[in-house]
Amino acid sequence: MLTTPPSAVTDGAAAAHRGVREIRNFIGGEYVDGVRWFDKRSPLDDAVIGRVAEAGREQVDAAVRAARSALHGPWGTMTVAERVQILYALADGINRRFDDFLSAEIADTGKPASLARHIDIPRGAANFRIFADVVKNVPSECFEMATPDGAGALNYALRRPVGVVGVVCPWNLPLLLMTWKVGPALACGNTVVVKPSEETPQTAALLGEVMNEAGVPRGVYNVVHGFGPGSAGEYLTTHPGVNAITFTGETRTGAAIMKAAAEGARPVSLEMGGKNAAVVFADCDFDAAIEGTLRSCFANSGQVCLGTERVYVERPIFDRFVAALKQGAERLRIGLPNDEATGMGPLISQEHKRKVLSYYAKAVQLGAHVVTGGGVPDMPDELARGAWVQPTIWTGLNDDSPIAREEIFGPCTLVMPFDTEEEVVRRANDNDYGLATAVWTTNLSRAHRVAAVIEVGIAWVNSWFLRDLRTPFGGAKQSGIGREGGVHSLEFYTELKNVCVKL
Ligand code: NAD
Repeated sequence: MLTTPPSAVTDGAAAAHRGVREIRNFIGGEYVDGVRWFDKRSPLDDAVIGRVAEAGREQVDAAVRAARSALHGPWGTMTVAERVQILYALADGINRRFDDFLSAEIADTGKPASLARHIDIPRGAANFRIFADVVKNVPSECFEMATPDGAGALNYALRRPVGVVGVVCPWNLPLLLMTWKVGPALACGNTVVVKPSEETPQTAALLGEVMNEAGVPRGVYNVVHGFGPGSAGEYLTTHPGVNAITFTGETRTGAAIMKAAAEGARPVSLEMGGKNAAVVFADCDFDAAIEGTLRSCFANSGQVCLGTERVYVERPIFDRFVAALKQGAERLRIGLPNDEATGMGPLISQEHKRKVLSYYAKAVQLGAHVVTGGGVPDMPDELARGAWVQPTIWTGLNDDSPIAREEIFGPCTLVMPFDTEEEVVRRANDNDYGLATAVWTTNLSRAHRVAAVIEVGIAWVNSWFLRDLRTPFGGAKQSGIGREGGVHSLEFYTELKNVCVKL
């Protein structure tokens, strides 16, 4: 699948040094070409590191047909116990190829190896294991019913796969977020066609090898590469052979996908954008709040849907908090993925860098005080063309500013003071998004009160990104539709059928 072709196309010495990989579609258990090739560039230096086979309508159609026939083939007749064993084998397969996944993920994203090693790849494996355990243990409901003739009836529920599931993924946590959907979809007996982000095609493609090694029947897992509109994303989501669509990405893309899914009245599960608030009370464990907020603002260069871009700090500790946050941000080492000292890598692409820097400029135009950052770091010449930006902290803007309202998805945050609990809850909720929040306080009653009224899908207290995969996950307001995770995934990935037996 990942080969170094004899005529590798490169645009620089760095790429030639690394080798340019060819990344193909995976359809019916085989790696296949597309209609054309597009370049995958490194976030580190903008050099071409891959040529990706873009799927046209024909390849997308072939993938959907392969998925359909696998549903009716051996996959469809497998017992739950057999599927569970295959899912465990997939988790083991990812772990066996850990270093391959790690290097592919790092090459595509430029993220620190320490992050991918501890989060992205292990979670990729865990997503198969946890949903195998869920389907193994989920009970079925049963109701005994009285009938006029006194014989009675028995009602029970059967879960059946929804069919061919279209899986459309973003670039920020590629393997983790893709398997978060593929794991439960397969556990429930569905087949999938995955459209990874055009920015991060490698780990989805590599997973095809693990599928074959684990004995997953051909056609159960398919991958089509490409872009959104006028490309594989649109072809997949408008394909009438796709029974349900699960998506993670920007809210406006989710809205376009929802429109596509309306044709044929197909169900959607949408995990979308956020503008998450952290709420820091004066009674917090100060060091823990600083450490947690630094992570929530700057981990993965701020490219985490659950990350914090608004920090509300109770006035008595505001100045001290801003000073400590600044110190922490300035200590973050910006650098290459394999340097263990690296705390922050580049953004995903030049395009995203332009977007983030446009917000950096806008914040200044709007009168923000730049506490730290606000620009591009000094990098060695060979990395000068990479998507590097500085971690940035602002104060001096209010809740109405676009900096406080719009998702930037970069390593930046606006810190604002507040005076009362009631006020901060109102302000945190005054936003179109509702994905996540982190509340920092040592007052137990307040912690429960605030967590209960903040309008989000996940409210952390004295923590951030602490995830138990059995819990419901999703967004409120424009951050999402539906919940996945644990048994909640079953609601989307299965049709629940009532069987009524007259006795
Ligand atoms: P994006 O919406 O630009 O792209 C996501 C995927 O959709 C890509 O594969 C893309 O090719 C595809 N796509 C784009 N337009 C399409 C169309 N019209 N039809 C079909 N497919 C289309 O998102 P992104 O930039 O890759 O990711 C960043 C976004 O994802 C941020 O908004 C972030 O908050 C969000 N996100 C949300 C969660 C969550 O769990 N809620 C998790 C991670 C990321």
